Amino acid sequence: MEKAPILLVDDRRENLLTLERLLEAPELLLVRAESGMEALEKTLDHQFALVLMDVQMPVMDGYETAELLRGNSKTRNIPIIFVTAARREQEHMFKGYDAGAVDYLLKPLEPSILKSKVGIFLEMYRQRQLLEEKTRELDAKILELEELKRKLEESNRKLQHLSSVDGLTGLFNRRHFDDTFLMEWKSAARRKSPISLIIIDIDHFKAFNDTYGHIAGDTCLQRVAKGLVSALHRPVDMVSRYGGEEFTVILPDTDIHGAEMLADRMRDIVLAMAIPHSSSSTGNFVTISAGVSTMVPRPGQPAANLLDAADKALYQAKESGRNCCRTNCDQPPPNDMAADRDCVR
Ligand code: GH3
Ligand code: MG
Ligand code: MG
Repeated sequence: MEKAPILLVDDRRENLLTLERLLEAPELLLVRAESGMEALEKTLDHQFALVLMDVQMPVMDGYETAELLRGNSKTRNIPIIFVTAARREQEHMFKGYDAGAVDYLLKPLEPSILKSKVGIFLEMYRQRQLLEEKTRELDAKILELEELKRKLEESNRKLQHLSSVDGLTGLFNRRHFDDTFLMEWKSAARRKSPISLIIIDIDHFKAFNDTYGHIAGDTCLQRVAKGLVSALHRPVDMVSRYGGEEFTVILPDTDIHGAEMLADRMRDIVLAMAIPHSSSSTGNFVTISAGVSTMVPRPGQPAANLLDAADKALYQAKESGRNCCRTNCDQPPPNDMAADRDCVR
């Protein structure tokens, strides 16, 4: 165990020797000071467990020294026992306590009282040290736990991301689409606002794989995915890989005109990529077909209704020769322009 440092302050060396003789013990480090000033200096080198201080000293007496110790944050909490030959007058006592004394010892010193009082303060010092050590340990543990929590949150985020993203294209996967689609559908129902869905399918993709190989097929899927994403301008719009060579686009707060426009734009973008497809009966390049539908969800209406409607529209697009977009809307067109549109009912 580390020695507990005790500061003995007295202007008379014989008194210091007496104190030393009475207190000498292996667990104590006794430090002498022969004046208030020297006492203050010694506090720079040690964090004392206790100060035993003579009251009557020349230049700076015990009270003044105690006040200075109280004024410094490093020494403020060191207990001070005054050692005084002065009569035990109330006035004296109060002055001492005001200056920060925690106890008194009267000269001539009674060894058993001295040892008992010092013993009590030493015990308090040891307890405080133990508490500080435990606090430090606890603080370190808290830091460790916080770091662990941060790492856990980070890996949860990564896991969450991995579980919602398609490995090949980097688009959101079917699972994430299902969750988001339901959420957006409910939100549109609450707000009584339109929500649109586009289902996209690459034309003659089996033939593409057969002609160019599966790896070229994968690259094609990646390029088409990039093209579809590049068509979006609003952060709430979301493209997902629905499975195989099929993609979905959720468009919250979008009416049929906006949705058709976007589907057309996507079709144009993919065509403009001019990915050769020699075995396609539709043209020389890779093309897509798209089915579009828009609904303002009615209370209790299932989200699957919109998915079915867009799927039917996609079937129509395939039937109409591919490389085109078809619409299936169960709501009256909002203006005359929409009446010209190819609406499957
Ligand atoms: P349609 O124009 O009627 O859509 O014809 P299609 O050939 O595109 O449709 P079909 O459903 O017959 O074939 C889809 C093909 O997509 C079959 C499958 O090999 C291919 N495919 C699905 N997923 C992947 C993939 O991850 N990578 C590759 N390379 N091909 C895939
Ligand atoms: Mg398909
Ligand atoms: Mg296809």
